[in-house]
Amino acid sequence: MTQPPARSRARRIGILGGTFNPIHLGHLRSAEEVREAQGLDRVLFIPSASPPHKRHDGLASAAHRLAMVRRAVVGNPFFKVSTIEIERSGHSYSVDTLRALRAHMPRATFSFIMGTDAFLEIDTWKDYATIFELCDLVVTSRPPHAETALMDLLPVAVRDQFCYPDTELTHRTGNRILFQHISGLDISASAIRERLAAGLSIRYLVPAAVERYIAHHGLYRRRVG
Ligand code: ATP
Repeated sequence: MTQPPARSRARRIGILGGTFNPIHLGHLRSAEEVREAQGLDRVLFIPSASPPHKRHDGLASAAHRLAMVRRAVVGNPFFKVSTIEIERSGHSYSVDTLRALRAHMPRATFSFIMGTDAFLEIDTWKDYATIFELCDLVVTSRPPHAETALMDLLPVAVRDQFCYPDTELTHRTGNRILFQHISGLDISASAIRERLAAGLSIRYLVPAAVERYIAHHGLYRRRVG
């Protein structure tokens, strides 16, 4: 008797959202280590159209930032690029992106990847408490932030929605917030922009293809206040 086809398990998708102005090795290494440790099927890199939390001075166009992200992920079969926020335009709110992705891939589960710096500001994000209902979060170490207990990093206003049995927080929905220690790469896009404005090398801070793209288009040459 032929067996019915086994139900394939839900795909586990990591999301790394960012301004990527420009994308650098800190982003890529974080995505790679989280993917491996959490057993994710793929990581979606989602460049924002207009980031609500960042100053707009020195922001390369969405087309340039997207082109750099595309070049950066070439060769990694687990990394994909989503234009969902750039196509939506306007402010890029993660809660809207998560809702749209869940509607588009109803059988998938999502893990939102972010550095400690981003997690510490999550209470400034639109409807941030809803984000905990929509996905797991993987908070990674990021120099120079010291490692602190997860509960202490969580906005006080939502602490009663979580229990803290171990090294992870469990939301009342069952979604989790995990902390993952990753190789510390003290690289930031702002430091890269500063180096470019000062005429300094960015070799080994970004993938070679991104370095070439920046040089070819003369990006970030002007210092901004
Ligand atoms: P900027 O310096 O312009 O503020 P950034 O380098 O922080 O930019 P973003 O695009 O804002 O880059 O970051 C997107 C996400 O990647 C955030 O969650 C951030 O915490 C994470 N991230 C950025 N750089 C690193 C790094 N070096 N190590 C780990 N995570 C990182």
